[in-house]
Amino acid sequence: MILRDCVICDSEGRRQGDISVGDGYVESTGEVPVGEDEVYSLDGLYVAPGVVDCHVHLTSDGDPDSVEGTHGDVESRVKQNLRRSLEAGVVGVRDLNAASDVVIQAGEAVEADEVDGARVKACGRALTTTGGHFHEISRVADGAAEFRKAAREQLADGADVLKCMATASAYHSRREGGPEMTLDELEEVVKIARMHGVPVAAHAEAKTGVMRAIRAGVTSVEHGKYIDREAARELSETKTYWVPTAKATEMKIEHEHGSVERARKLRQGLNSSFRHCIDAGVSIAMGSDAGTAYNRHGENLEELRLMAEHGMSPEHVLEASTRTAAQLAGFEDLGMVREGYRASFVVLEEDPLESAEAWTSVATVMADGRWVDGPP
Ligand SMILES: [Zn+2]
Repeated sequence: MILRDCVICDSEGRRQGDISVGDGYVESTGEVPVGEDEVYSLDGLYVAPGVVDCHVHLTSDGDPDSVEGTHGDVESRVKQNLRRSLEAGVVGVRDLNAASDVVIQAGEAVEADEVDGARVKACGRALTTTGGHFHEISRVADGAAEFRKAAREQLADGADVLKCMATASAYHSRREGGPEMTLDELEEVVKIARMHGVPVAAHAEAKTGVMRAIRAGVTSVEHGKYIDREAARELSETKTYWVPTAKATEMKIEHEHGSVERARKLRQGLNSSFRHCIDAGVSIAMGSDAGTAYNRHGENLEELRLMAEHGMSPEHVLEASTRTAAQLAGFEDLGMVREGYRASFVVLEEDPLESAEAWTSVATVMADGRWVDGPP
């Protein structure tokens, strides 16, 4: 298949050309000679790599009143959310907490071509402490030895990443994002993860917990509502990624879910986290926290507009949502429009390197060389 007359936009910049696709992968870009292939003229449309969302919760659909239901209900909800994500241009997701291994299973079904949806990296159940953040559905452990066992259990279930709740929620009225895991508990999880070659994602909101997670050697800090200059420098020097999840906060404000006053304050904190992380050159990776209240799967790309509103340039937003996010999540063949990468693209009517608003003008999506909803 040949996509003709595209404007290719990825983290290496903008270039005119054709894209030759075979067996689900990009074979070449540039001037592709005419042959027997199927040809689609894209006539000046912008072809960007499909987005990778590094922080979602597929078992919930963003409806704050929904009930979990039976295992079958959860399973079909996960599949539906994977399909919605793909239709929106999200070709890979990283799920960071489910009450069972249901998402890991769904991810395997996608890889086996049995389910039509975004590709998946998943943690299975998150690791937390007694009474800790999301202890109701997470794997509870206390002390390094228990965390070692809990980490190994998730890996035995097929986890691609270990998630730990390093701090409380910033919305918790008394704890306000304070630390919940000790340094040795975090270090133990990191040790096991490294042995297995998987990343560690730390839910970390206020500064003490963020600094502790970085010191323990986690791969990414999720949320990070109060990253000051010192914490940003630390993130940058240790090459720890930051996944901001701005949309979760925005939806709470927009739908007046919980304390709007607190959410507004947290948005301000997040805004200064963005400023410090941009200045310090931290690797920022896109994560929407889809599945939290009013934060629906399929609307993930709104996070890109918010990243721009918080001060990131269009080029930076594109890189954070494609190449950097693919690197963090572990999708080695996603994130670029280039030979050897999967033919998984978002086709846009406007130029994403000009304005992040372009991501709201998705014309169509290609995943592994197939049009998700037909050609443009
Ligand atoms: Zn989350």
